Amino acid sequence: MAIRTIRIQGDSVLEKRCREVVELTPKTRELIEDMIETMYEANGVGLAAPQVGVLKRIVVIDVGEGPIVMINPVILESSGEQTGDEGCLSLPGKAGTVTRPNYVKARAYDESMQEFEIEGTELLARAICHELDHLEGHMYTEKVEGGLRDVTYEDAGDKQET
Ligand code: ZN
Repeated sequence: MAIRTIRIQGDSVLEKRCREVVELTPKTRELIEDMIETMYEANGVGLAAPQVGVLKRIVVIDVGEGPIVMINPVILESSGEQTGDEGCLSLPGKAGTVTRPNYVKARAYDESMQEFEIEGTELLARAICHELDHLEGHMYTEKVEGGLRDVTYEDAGDKQET
């Protein structure tokens, strides 16, 4: 496993739509392992493949309950609303207010290419939406209400960057 370089906003790889994964090759498995390690090293709660420069529909999320790998994820249902702070590992030191669904149900494939469904509320729902946006080439900054704020080092202790 290896830590990969996280791409920063302005890098064109973050503005492109990602391709479906059709086969889990050894290279793709290595990518997933590296993504998990990179997310933990950066204290993030989620990471999408384009954030490490790979245009594949893969995201990893950990909201404190262990890593979730989502390959070719699709949102099936969403409901409710939550308005709160959001940050992104591709835009360090910044945060902004974003409104997201408070409940999301998604379908994806795991690292064995087994299909599964996942339901999430609050932070997990937010993280799923944020990461899936990355797969479409979108950043949360497009949805920020009221502009971006600088996040101080103290705030970063419990940061929820994805
Ligand atoms: Zn992000």
